[in-house]
Amino acid sequence: MKTIIANFKMNPSSIEEAKQLLELYKQEGKKNQNVDLIVAPPFLYLSIAKQFNLELAAQNCFYEDQGAFTGEISPLMLKDLGVHYVIIGHSERRQLGETNEMISKKIQAVLRNHLIPILCVGETQQERKEGKTQEVLKIQLEQALLPNKDYLLQAEKIFIAYEPVWAIGTGDFCDPREASETMEFIKNVIVSHFDIRISNLIMIYGGSVDSKNIDNFLKQVEINGVLVGGASIKKEELVKILAIANSY
Ligand code: PEP
Repeated sequence: MKTIIANFKMNPSSIEEAKQLLELYKQEGKKNQNVDLIVAPPFLYLSIAKQFNLELAAQNCFYEDQGAFTGEISPLMLKDLGVHYVIIGHSERRQLGETNEMISKKIQAVLRNHLIPILCVGETQQERKEGKTQEVLKIQLEQALLPNKDYLLQAEKIFIAYEPVWAIGTGDFCDPREASETMEFIKNVIVSHFDIRISNLIMIYGGSVDSKNIDNFLKQVEINGVLVGGASIKKEELVKILAIANSY
């Protein structure tokens, strides 16, 4: 069984459209029960999404449980709502100034509240050109996870999304075999540092996945699933993507 994480990003722009999209996810989720489907709408639509009986992820969270943090949403609030997953360290958030230190604190807050983190890591085009991909990934993983060793020991599951920054929203997806090799590297870094059972580590690829290329990603044994951004809000695409994933 493969995992599909649908990241709506900051879409759609009205509650009515969100409801239509969520209804389609509900129907397609029922049709394709051999898919672990996780839907990540904007915060504002999470409580509406609950009514559609979908497994939900938040796209971000803050690292404190409550207090004077205007504009932030805590993992405690997400947990109370029935959200089980939180995307942490998405490159679009890193571009807005999120540091590895903040990401590490967020991972801790998520694990402390017994939620499941989806940690995103990935290199930029420049870093890739300079042959620094592995170095960058290792730093991102170590800085996010090393301070949280004790929490990780007790974690039910952790998701790592390998999302090359140059592949996100560009149509320029990573070669699936290359992605798979990089994900094997990521797995080795984690296993060498932490006492995490391999079966609790879920490896996800993200970056311009659509109905045409998804099959080549899901074929790779290292790849447990994909994170879909742009294509996740296109109705025809999501129908095709879920049908293909259902055949694994
Ligand atoms: C994402 O939002 O993480 C993502 C991979 O987006 P896209 O599928 O549009 O590249």
